[in-house]
Amino acid sequence: MPAPGLAIRGPRSLLRQIREALAGGGPAQSRLDMVVRIIARSMVAEVCSIYLRRANGEMELFATEGLKPEAVHVTTLKPGEGLVGETMRLNRPLSLSDAPNHPSFSYRPETGEDPFHAFLAAPLLRGGRAIGVLVVQNRTERVYTEEEVEDLQIIAMVLAEMVAGGGLLGEGELKNVEIAPHRPERLKGSRFADGLAYGKAVLHEAPVAPEQLLSEDSAAEERRLKTAVEALQAQIDEMLEGQHGILGASFEVLETYRMFAHDRGWNRSLEEAVRSGLTAEAAVERVRSEHRARLGQARDPYLRERLHDLEDLNDRLLRHLSGDGHAPRVLPDDAILIARNLGPADLLEYDRGRLKGLLLEEGSSASHAAIVARALGIPCVGRLAGLRDRVSEGDPVIVDAETGEAYLRPRPDVITASLARMDVRAQRQAEFARLRETPAFTRDGAKVTLLMNAGLAVDLDILGETGAEGIGLFRTEFQFMVAEELPRLNTQTALYARVLDAAGDMPVTFRTLDLGGDKVLPYLEAEREDNPALGWRAVRMGLDRPALLRLQLRALISAARGRPLRIMFPLIASVDEFRAARAFVDQEIAWAQRRGRPAPSRLDVGAMVEAPSVVWHLDALLPMVDFVSVGTNDLMQYMFAADRGNPRVADRYDFLSPPALRVMKTIQDACVESGTSVSVCGEMAGRPLEAFALIALGFDHLSMPPSGVGPVKRMVLSVDREAARRGVLSLIRTSSGSVRNEIETLARKLYVAI
Ligand code: PEP
Ligand code: MG
Repeated sequence: MPAPGLAIRGPRSLLRQIREALAGGGPAQSRLDMVVRIIARSMVAEVCSIYLRRANGEMELFATEGLKPEAVHVTTLKPGEGLVGETMRLNRPLSLSDAPNHPSFSYRPETGEDPFHAFLAAPLLRGGRAIGVLVVQNRTERVYTEEEVEDLQIIAMVLAEMVAGGGLLGEGELKNVEIAPHRPERLKGSRFADGLAYGKAVLHEAPVAPEQLLSEDSAAEERRLKTAVEALQAQIDEMLEGQHGILGASFEVLETYRMFAHDRGWNRSLEEAVRSGLTAEAAVERVRSEHRARLGQARDPYLRERLHDLEDLNDRLLRHLSGDGHAPRVLPDDAILIARNLGPADLLEYDRGRLKGLLLEEGSSASHAAIVARALGIPCVGRLAGLRDRVSEGDPVIVDAETGEAYLRPRPDVITASLARMDVRAQRQAEFARLRETPAFTRDGAKVTLLMNAGLAVDLDILGETGAEGIGLFRTEFQFMVAEELPRLNTQTALYARVLDAAGDMPVTFRTLDLGGDKVLPYLEAEREDNPALGWRAVRMGLDRPALLRLQLRALISAARGRPLRIMFPLIASVDEFRAARAFVDQEIAWAQRRGRPAPSRLDVGAMVEAPSVVWHLDALLPMVDFVSVGTNDLMQYMFAADRGNPRVADRYDFLSPPALRVMKTIQDACVESGTSVSVCGEMAGRPLEAFALIALGFDHLSMPPSGVGPVKRMVLSVDREAARRGVLSLIRTSSGSVRNEIETLARKLYVAI
């Protein structure tokens, strides 16, 4: 008997024969029949069968060589049933020398498979999801070699792509076969950027097109792969060698990259795949698909994290293969981008006019993609488990970032309802736009200053549109988070100068770097900490690494160039920290003066009130600062001991509760007493009902996300501050855990537009 499996590597490779058979004319059935015949012959198997998954989840025998032809379209297996079901469940190849003795073996007399002992099956995987199973069988009790298993997997991959993605088999011919998901589905995730959008799915990591799967020249393809892998290894080595690791970070993630990039097994699988006739891109996809199938089922979070690292590595390798200068994708008019996660700057590469929404399988509200989506005003829902396997390019999708849901292939009534809600939103936006020039005075004549939170250059474009009177919080770390490497002095100075230019006469409060916690940078990878929110973050990092902080202060001072400058330090937990931070500002001012550089025309240095500790030391802190701003996002997470980034605990407490409102009142009263200017810049300032409560407590400077300015101004214009004060003060003395309902009732009674 000739060595099985070798035929695949011949010059007129099996893959090519399969492609030709599938691409030929005639009905789908006869083409599939030919494919199984070719595979059986090449693999020296007596049987070769293709099972495809029906919409109801059952596997149906679609074509066979060697089993009884009468069984085709008759034999079906329920999910998990038989060895085919077992292969689907395992999501990886199953090789048995004596199949009938396996506990999952399910005897089907109509197939006539009694005489066959050896059994080898591989799932037809698309994006880690099995859409069918390819089986070969032999009469004798033989053990299939590793090479044969590998070959069958490659054939299965090509078949999967050709059946599902190639349009080689017409839709009518494959009716009812679940080559791609088609049912309406609703996925629940988290809101990353508010809004609603309806459009067509565009996959960020588009699968390799079926016509690009097979190579013309394996040797050339092998060279391409080798060059790309070497470039990838060099890139990672260079990153590790510290050029980017200015902070002496632990590089744990990079080390993992390096481990994979130099991994012999990974490299060998890629080479094997290319040698068998795949293009380098298809080889990457094949190996990726296998890893996904294997690691995707792992319950162990450590292993699942390794899968992420591997995915990133695969993406990097694909980028090396495509060359860096690939042109940006052309989007349909109403594109909804679908991605696992997006790296720095990825989102900015898409045409903003056409990109209507973003759905992410992973990410967090503090991830790059979420930050940029908010800045661009693109509705975004993240943490949608299983998203990528459930959506195909071009599928209609709704991004409902009001509720944190995604509707895939929505039913017509869901579309109609969403379009109606989008209309209402548009009308409200128009109303807010009309209020843009109206100053925000309460009905009883109190001025409330509404400011905007910002962090990226794109935010500046909408400063004028919002009607905000300045930037109350400029989160400088965003520039760092969307960069590939540490921004240099000139880059930082240029951004800050641009912000000041754009703001003109309006005030801008720059907050120094607030990294750490959930905001981690690949090039500043810190030690992994058990409690990052309580760890080495914000001003703590700046004080421990003065070079980084001083560089930023230098950039701020030099950007101000004779203009007023407001600097604020995040997460001040003790007066000593503020003293030390302020000393760095003084040193940098002196440094600039020694060089004859223009000093800021006025300098205000403030602290964020975010750590509960300083609330009990305001009498000492307030005299030292020029202003304070309350970061309620952090203050409340520390007050209620609930990680703001953890969805399981984030909803367990209410900002509209006696303890939260009492602490705000304490801060406000202390600031009035000492004559210190105070603002609130956490997200609560941008929500009308919460802002109503803050105004009632006496706050009159609120800084918020751009989308909050319109709704909050509408609320301010309708409020009688004195009546609000009386009502809210009585409510915070109650014994309820939350007074949200009561505050809402109060607001309605006072005809406040919330
Ligand atoms: C806050 O904590 O409320 C705040 C405004 O800062 P950040 O959300 O950036 O931590
Ligand atoms: Mg904060």
